[in-house]
Amino acid sequence: MNQLKCTDCDKQFSLNEKLWRCRCGGILDIEFEPDFPLDKIKQRKKNMWRYREAIPIAKGADIISFDEGFTPLLKVNFDERSVLIKQDHIFPTGSFKDRGASVLVSKIKELGINNVVEDSSGNAGCAIAAYCAHAGISCEIFVPESTPPGKLTQIELYGAKLTKVPGSREETARAVIRVIEEAQRYYASHSWNPFFFHGTKTFAYEVCEQLNWEVPDYVVLPVGNGTLVLGAYIGFSELFNADIIEKLPKIIGVQAKNCAPLYKAYQEKLEIVPKIEAMGTISEGIAIAEPIRGKQILKAIKKSNGEIIAVEDHEIVEALSKMCRQGFYIEPTAAATIAGLNKYLIRVNPDELVVSVFTGHGMKTTEKMKKIMDSN
Ligand SMILES: *Cc1c(COP(=O)(O)O)cnc(C)c1O
Ligand SMILES: [Zn+2]
Repeated sequence: MNQLKCTDCDKQFSLNEKLWRCRCGGILDIEFEPDFPLDKIKQRKKNMWRYREAIPIAKGADIISFDEGFTPLLKVNFDERSVLIKQDHIFPTGSFKDRGASVLVSKIKELGINNVVEDSSGNAGCAIAAYCAHAGISCEIFVPESTPPGKLTQIELYGAKLTKVPGSREETARAVIRVIEEAQRYYASHSWNPFFFHGTKTFAYEVCEQLNWEVPDYVVLPVGNGTLVLGAYIGFSELFNADIIEKLPKIIGVQAKNCAPLYKAYQEKLEIVPKIEAMGTISEGIAIAEPIRGKQILKAIKKSNGEIIAVEDHEIVEALSKMCRQGFYIEPTAAATIAGLNKYLIRVNPDELVVSVFTGHGMKTTEKMKKIMDSN
């Protein structure tokens, strides 16, 4: 049965309802029966929509796509060994958020909505703005005032209305909710809206197909709002339930120590995400002090037998420069994952398969990276 279901009150809704959360205020998930016709998939174009039957968009005509996805899975050298890294920084807008935006904006088109609101620390805003531009849907993106200028220019050039909010990332989230409640607008949120996660899940499909339907032992991923961690968890679980893979990989979530509520919850074995005192980090893309789906993230990590680790800013700077010296130009938020990977690898056996990801392109943040490098 394909439907929306509230994670709080269990109420069910049709996939055609214009809802981004339950009427009780709870988070919605999608209950959906995916299909994986592997022979057909193999013959299709190398993009994320090759898994058509596993993505909850009914009509091909509604799909908003730039033929994105099926990014290379490349061997990258670390001190003692090599790791396969998914090149998700080479998406059309420069981050993996395009996976989620492609599916969510397709859904918005299917629902006949022509005006949406989103808030972001930058990359999700860029992705929603670009896909809305492609679809002819107007959008307004709220960002914290501190967002790097490259990302702001990108959002504006896509034609979105940009609204800068003074203060923290959380204050931006609160400002956008106020606007939505007053004006009854549709929230194209990458943290609330469940369709976003049915785009990011294609990460898992692609990794397994690129490994000839084998599963990695570990996937090391960034975690802020959990769009990639939860997406990957959904994707791997669907493949497992369809008997295509034989186990789930252990999901290792990486946070920046300066803003690490999930790491704290994991360390202290809490089921609810604690309040934290957020300090600034150069990884603004994962600096989420109050992750909406925090409880769900902790559960997914636990079910995969994974864990949550945290890295210091100086480790992120080192990882950034190490990757650039191998020719990979990534942004500081993406380097946090690599810093975590670097740290975690000593705990992995040499014969175990590790996959990680470059989540965002360096060209978005060149000015910011110049400042970081100049002061180190
Ligand atoms: C959004 C983002 C992340 C983190 O994703 P979450 O959904 O917040 O867990 C990591 N890296 C980059 C470059 C991002 O844009
Ligand atoms: Zn509910």
